Amino acid sequence: MDVAALATGVAAGDRRALARAITLVESGRADHRAQALDLLGRLGAGSEGGRQALRLGLSGTPGVGKSTFIESFGLMLTGQGKRVAVLAVDPSSARSGGSILGDKTRMERLSRDPHAFIRPSPSQAQMGGVARRTREAVALCEAAGFDLVLIETVGVGQSETVVAELCDLFLLLLAPAGGDELQGVKRGIMEMADLILINKADGDLKPAALRTMADYAGALRLLRRRPQDPEGFPKAICVSALETLGLAPAWDEMQALARWRQENGHWTARRAAQARHWFEEEVRQGLLAALTRDPVRTRIEELGQAVAQGQLTPEAAAAQLLSLLP
Ligand code: GDP
Repeated sequence: MDVAALATGVAAGDRRALARAITLVESGRADHRAQALDLLGRLGAGSEGGRQALRLGLSGTPGVGKSTFIESFGLMLTGQGKRVAVLAVDPSSARSGGSILGDKTRMERLSRDPHAFIRPSPSQAQMGGVARRTREAVALCEAAGFDLVLIETVGVGQSETVVAELCDLFLLLLAPAGGDELQGVKRGIMEMADLILINKADGDLKPAALRTMADYAGALRLLRRRPQDPEGFPKAICVSALETLGLAPAWDEMQALARWRQENGHWTARRAAQARHWFEEEVRQGLLAALTRDPVRTRIEELGQAVAQGQLTPEAAAAQLLSLLP
């Protein structure tokens, strides 16, 4: 593979080159990994001073309208001349090998837009691996000159935490709740959100959407004010992805929050903390991988047997093994 040519293509914003570059960073092969690191290095991808996009995380349970929202919102932004990339983090693919977010019929109009780039979730990867690949894919989209990178995930717990560590702003998409039914949104996820969007605020669902918005606005007021937020954030607002209502105001809110954080130092602080987090995560993954390779793997097997036979205590065996590590 001609890594230099690929880097040139990505830097020129060529979407096919970008797609190939992402495939390269997703590959598990050792030679591909070396090429991927070479490519990222050539592009200065993800580094301070390189091209940067607004990284938006978007989470919501299946059916709440994520694809519809991304399509409408993405088309609004490309209509303003912005270049929009959409990446998916799909935790289900780690388990089943199938990808909910990989469905080709999703976001059909946006996918035909020359100012948009849509990438389904990598399948068959561990959660840790998915995170690394998504992070590198974000960096590649930035190097390709995209203004906005949307990182989408299905709301099922672990994946939101990963996405929150990848994005500048985290959006939570909810559907209107019927009556006094609670949506079971976990407090932790609500605390991660910068903006809660109540979707489907149209037709018969509008009154329920307004009620749900008021409920969440009330709940958000009870949360402790975070240092990275100006007065009034996090906010809950109503949108209709289907009828493209409220999308421009939602975008205004995102920009206002982004600007405030940039002006007050929270933006760079968050990115710095994220870089640190991913460094430590890489080390953790590297150490775990080392445990599955020789000589450590064989030694674990031997010490495990000695422990099972009562020749060594678990603690003494663990201490012996750990002494092998630097
Ligand atoms: P996802 O699973 O979160 O990606 O949800 P989809 O975007 O596939 O939407 C699920 C269903 O909700 C589809 O039938 C959409 O047409 C519908 N839907 C999405 N957004 C809206 C909206 O703003 N209003 C209404 N009434 N329906 C919507």
